[in-house]
Amino acid sequence: MIVIKSKNELQQTIQKWKKQNKSIGFVPTMGYLHEGHLTLIKNARKENDIVVLSIFVNPLQFGVNEDFGTYPRDLMRDLDLAKNVGVDVVFAPTTEEMYPNKPSVTVQVHSRIHVLCGKSREGHFDGVATILTKLFHLVQPNRAYFGMKDAQQVAVVEGLIDDFHFPIELVRVETVREEDGLAKSSRNVRLLPHEREEAKYLYASLLKAKQTIEKGERNPKVVTKHVRDFLTEHISGEIDYIELYSYPELEEVETVTGEVIIALAVKYSQARLIDNITIEVN
Ligand code: AMP
Repeated sequence: MIVIKSKNELQQTIQKWKKQNKSIGFVPTMGYLHEGHLTLIKNARKENDIVVLSIFVNPLQFGVNEDFGTYPRDLMRDLDLAKNVGVDVVFAPTTEEMYPNKPSVTVQVHSRIHVLCGKSREGHFDGVATILTKLFHLVQPNRAYFGMKDAQQVAVVEGLIDDFHFPIELVRVETVREEDGLAKSSRNVRLLPHEREEAKYLYASLLKAKQTIEKGERNPKVVTKHVRDFLTEHISGEIDYIELYSYPELEEVETVTGEVIIALAVKYSQARLIDNITIEVN
């Protein structure tokens, strides 16, 4: 496994593989790797000749009051984990390497961002789309792997790939969970013990919603109310949102039909957790 910090070196390395017609699978992350990230990498390993992992905490996607400074980082540990799952190249640039100057061009996302996390995290998805555009140009992957834990991000990246004609296949990877159902996240380390204990109810509430739909409920407001009632009964965290939309368009629906997403966000003292499930309803 090679660790690359410079854009030039990455480009030269990629060129070499492109000339040899190697397929490249790309897993972009912010590091502090856990089983969720490793699952993306393992999928990439199976489906490509070369696996490139990027580790970069992207300042552009954090709001002024968000946790850019305190986002958990541990590059040495990440490199060990990456090596064990067969990564070929880790691209771990500094902020100065990715943004040597104040950006003169950034990418602005217009759709799929006015709901869920996009509503309260202004500019977040512009930051995501901008860094991914830069990384896609450098890595030139055949396939890029994204986790459904961040389903809104997947929806936005689908738009980015389509609109900017990137010749990249987006591979959606199911959310990897702890044994009690909590979606794995780098931010889970910040939960206090009682918060960690009750955080299992987030996924439980989504499963309740699924059951409600399976029993025949088709009114989105009734479904989300069930989730809210269940969560209010079981958790002390502050519910930021519980919403149901069509997926991946993220548009309001009057009736639950087709592919839909039920997504929620809950604020704890030091961490904001998100989770979702998508359901196909005929
Ligand atoms: P992050 O480092 O949080 O930016 O995440 C990098 C990638 O890993 C994104 O595509 C995430 O959706 C994905 N990811 C994070 N957590 C999980 C999880 N629990 N299961 C599956 N994928 C995940």
